[in-house]
Amino acid sequence: MMGEKDKQTNTNREQKENRDVLLSTQTVIGKALEKLGYSSEVFELMKEPMRMLTVRIPVRMDDGSTKIFTGYRAQHNDAVGPTKGGVRFHPNVTEKEVKALSIWMSLKAGIVDLPYGGGKGGIICDPREMSFRELERLSRGYVRAISQVVGPTKDIPAPDVFTNSQIMAWMFDEYSRIREFDSPGFITGKPVVLGGSHGRESATAKGVTICIREAAKKKGIDINGARVVIQGFGNAGSFLAKFMHDSGAKVIAISDAYGALYDPEGLDIDYLLDRRDSFGTVTKLFKNTISNQELLELDCDILVPAAIENQITEDNADKIKAKIVVEAANGPTTIEGTRVLTENDVLLVPDVLASAGGVTVSYFEWVQNNQGYYWTEEEVEAKLEHVMVQSFDNIYKLARRRKVDMRLAAYMVGVRKMAEASRFRGWI
Ligand code: GLU
Repeated sequence: MMGEKDKQTNTNREQKENRDVLLSTQTVIGKALEKLGYSSEVFELMKEPMRMLTVRIPVRMDDGSTKIFTGYRAQHNDAVGPTKGGVRFHPNVTEKEVKALSIWMSLKAGIVDLPYGGGKGGIICDPREMSFRELERLSRGYVRAISQVVGPTKDIPAPDVFTNSQIMAWMFDEYSRIREFDSPGFITGKPVVLGGSHGRESATAKGVTICIREAAKKKGIDINGARVVIQGFGNAGSFLAKFMHDSGAKVIAISDAYGALYDPEGLDIDYLLDRRDSFGTVTKLFKNTISNQELLELDCDILVPAAIENQITEDNADKIKAKIVVEAANGPTTIEGTRVLTENDVLLVPDVLASAGGVTVSYFEWVQNNQGYYWTEEEVEAKLEHVMVQSFDNIYKLARRRKVDMRLAAYMVGVRKMAEASRFRGWI
């Protein structure tokens, strides 16, 4: 029989597993496939990336020493088309996280109906403590290390946490040198002068803004004057704060990795955008800060986690006061957190839908690179608007029809095309 202590260890293990992003995404994939009536073989194929490369990258540091960095590239499933997804530079990158992130990219591609499978890369490093030249050498070293498995028709990288258009430019240049011709379609999120797309930098936030607008309609909330809380002031969070502010909402709190700023009357977003550094740090300039945990529990209408994983869990989900939670980050809410929010009638728009604007415009960038003909910002925005509204509507309706939460509905839409393509190819 199980003693009290064993029970406790078991609960702890379960809670820890719940926060294991790979395990939790596998759990939801399993449920989605079951709802769609697929066999366990399909689950076996999809629960892990089909290819996973680990690389060691030697980098000459500015002080003359050499440091060896570990990096990864995961390719989840390429039945639909080449794999696609960002590369993150972060000290907490793990093999498991990169695997989960690659699965999420497959789901996003399925949800917004792109001709891609999911991929993801990461390097264990802290770019905040590296010089510009060290970052360049690391970026180029990573491309040399993964060059055999990536390419415009194989696997297409892009920006993610702590990587930006400059890093994409170095990677593009390195790949083009190796291949001995310009390959702009090798990577997306490039500067516009190197074949980047108009609207790519703000695309994730634009997509989130559209999801917020659609979710607000469903909940009968007027965006004008709505109180918005945003966790994270990186690429997604900062553009989003601007878009929400410009559309008449009151952004009452934002945060970075070090703390949060709160003003019930609304923050001066333009000032904060002006003062943030390239990693999104701004709260260090202020004395009266609150913690990231306090920020999540603030009284507000719309909460947007736009930072890192596992922020809304069984520990705090009950204390969330927002009526709508829109996930701009990848994996900010655990399975238990999702359950509690749903029970409390919070409308949760899941990451794989809400943050799909980035990869959508990455796809537009790749298409423009392949055809050599470039679109205006208005054209890109109109196309993105169309894709996001349709995808939101599709998933919202499915959730209603099948009486499931929007995360499960999004997973059902996300896996379907990949499962069908794998079946037609005779893999399963
Ligand atoms: N890193 C982004 C994401 O997680 C964008 C990926 C891409 O543009 O390929 O969706």
